[in-house]
Amino acid sequence: MSGDSFSLNQNLWDADPELYDLIQKEKRRQHTGLEMIASENFTSLPVLQCLSSCLHNKYSEGLPGQRYYGGNEFIDEIELLCQRRALEAYNLDPAEWGVNVQPYSGSPANLAVYTAIVEPHGRIMGLDLPDGGHLTHGFMTATKKISATSIFFESMPYKVDPTTGLIDYDKLAETAKLFKPKVIVAGISCYSRCLDYKRFRQIADDNGAYLFSDMAHISGLVAAGVIPSPFEYSDVVSTTTHKTLRGPRAGIIFFRKGVRSVNKNGEKIYYDLESKINQAVFPGLQGGPHNNAIAGIATAMKQAKLPEFRKYQEQVVANARKLCAELMNRGYNIATGGTDVHLVLVDLRSVGITGARAEYILEEISIACNKNTVPGDKSALNPSGIRLGTPALTTRGLKEADMVKVVDFIHRGLQLAKEVTKTSGPKLVDFKRVLKEDATFATKVKSLRAEVEAFADTFTLPGYSDY
Ligand SMILES: *Cc1c(COP(=O)(O)O)cnc(C)c1O
Repeated sequence: MSGDSFSLNQNLWDADPELYDLIQKEKRRQHTGLEMIASENFTSLPVLQCLSSCLHNKYSEGLPGQRYYGGNEFIDEIELLCQRRALEAYNLDPAEWGVNVQPYSGSPANLAVYTAIVEPHGRIMGLDLPDGGHLTHGFMTATKKISATSIFFESMPYKVDPTTGLIDYDKLAETAKLFKPKVIVAGISCYSRCLDYKRFRQIADDNGAYLFSDMAHISGLVAAGVIPSPFEYSDVVSTTTHKTLRGPRAGIIFFRKGVRSVNKNGEKIYYDLESKINQAVFPGLQGGPHNNAIAGIATAMKQAKLPEFRKYQEQVVANARKLCAELMNRGYNIATGGTDVHLVLVDLRSVGITGARAEYILEEISIACNKNTVPGDKSALNPSGIRLGTPALTTRGLKEADMVKVVDFIHRGLQLAKEVTKTSGPKLVDFKRVLKEDATFATKVKSLRAEVEAFADTFTLPGYSDY
């Protein structure tokens, strides 16, 4: 027993019932809701066990074998195991690729990449956020630099073709010629088609730029081999490990080693990414790595080599395709006309409700998704679509037939939103008020939510059963 006035070995439910109760409520919400946020997933029990293990206690600044603190014998082994498995998960030759598994999450990983290979105010080009890119790909608005990646670096976004919704590679090639970026970022947070990495590589080479692929959303699909891999064409690849990959909340960076090119005199030019990226992560941007998360990545990467993992990822895509087809059957427009991956971007302009309204009513009936701009949207502040993803539902065991049911719920929710809009007029506050105060609408919401929750509750969640 310690000298503290409380025991350090009490269970959370005894030590802090107030907090425990909130966690229970969140667990209940996860169980009774349909989680369709495309970036989310339910990680496995072994990953959760790594996260709450004693590894959390250890400081280990530096890399395996070169730590600033003692006591890292086993931490070194864990990090090396994690590195080896990360390379194996993507079938990478350790002579050609290295990996840093220490970034705290996807955004710090990306900032480390730029810090390593772009000088202050150097130029980067990424897919614009409203067009499906990520904040960390240089996001800024017409009047304000938002992401640190546009504050510390000069950003020139590329865009999708507003009519097809597809990335306009010709325009990117044209702009890159003028802007001469140091880095071109190939990566998406909301784009339902596979990327043309070969084309990206060509454009990068034409301008002497690095090709940096950020596969945060799709890294599980890539590991399973169900969509094309960025590695063949990229210099650097980053990813989160908690999205389709279904590991812990963390980030990693892969970088090329060996010969980068051969010059006119036949001399080999070597990559110098290894030291630059490792130093950007630590001591450049971070301190002690989160060893519990690194262990979680290691075990997630082991899972990624299993046949069940491939089956899971195939089901993720099959479910997204079914979701998409069913929505189209009901008359909904889908950006790019379909999906090759785990997500669908629904264009609600023809339906007459905004993305915010759709997100709100779906949340009211326990379906989680997010409003999203669609190609051709005039304002990023008032997006016209919603993004729906299948990774989390597929982890819970939903199949194509269940997607029919899910689309039925979504459709009924959106129909209700249309009805409410007729009464409430254009303002979102009025929409929310009418939905709450009008007895008929409130009853309809309540009964639809009960149906959704009864359905969702029949599917299990992985993880701890006791909390
Ligand atoms: C999610 C995401 C990130 C950032 O990940 P965080 O862990 O949320 O910081 C970076 N890039 C892309 C493409 C993403 O989708």
